[in-house]
Amino acid sequence: ATFGALGLPDALVTALAKSGITVPSDIQAAAVPDALAGKNILGRAQTGSGKTLAFGLPMLARLAYHSPTSGGRPQAKRPRAMVLVPTRELAFQVVDSLTGYADALGLKVRPAVGGTPFGRQADQLRRGVDVLVATPGRLGDHLRQGTCILDAVEITALDEADQMADLGFLPEVKALLGQTPADGQRMLFSATLDREVQALVRLFLPEHVEHST
Ligand code: AMP
Repeated sequence: ATFGALGLPDALVTALAKSGITVPSDIQAAAVPDALAGKNILGRAQTGSGKTLAFGLPMLARLAYHSPTSGGRPQAKRPRAMVLVPTRELAFQVVDSLTGYADALGLKVRPAVGGTPFGRQADQLRRGVDVLVATPGRLGDHLRQGTCILDAVEITALDEADQMADLGFLPEVKALLGQTPADGQRMLFSATLDREVQALVRLFLPEHVEHST
């Protein structure tokens, strides 16, 4: 298969080819068409499987397809997609992986993680971010300070959900998901599906399609 055949827009297929990425990985071939169709996705995939692009490319494509064409953007530049990750290192990796593709579609991807100045992040959020890549603790701080509002989030991805459970982040993750619109699209990726992750799936992705590598 090719990325074009999976339904991704030409701008992304071209950008992928420029990075030398021409053949979809297994998880990408399986998940991208369903994700583009707006379905909730449960992905069982390890690091190295290409999972970041499996959720990231359809996320960007859907935001671009549904870009408001008249009357400016609704909700005053609030994030329209959110990626929750367990660590700041992974947040920066995800931002690095997606930025070139977001640029190709005119979308902005930015991190919101601990260990970096809160005020500067708040300024970035004020200027407008399409895709927020966040660790749960720092994003919770932004919500409590009123520097970020999640009511315009159409698509959420939870990456390495098992790691988030191991680090004790699931209560905060549930609180954050609870602030996003209930009819939004959700994609959860995890290498393993222990009881805590299964409970999260039942709560926030009661209907989903499952793909594994
Ligand atoms: P991930 O599993 O998301 O951490 O991705 C692992 C690495 O594989 C990253 O460096 C990606 O740039 C790369 N990658 C992702 N998808 C593909 C693909 N279809 N072909 C070649 N490399 C890829």
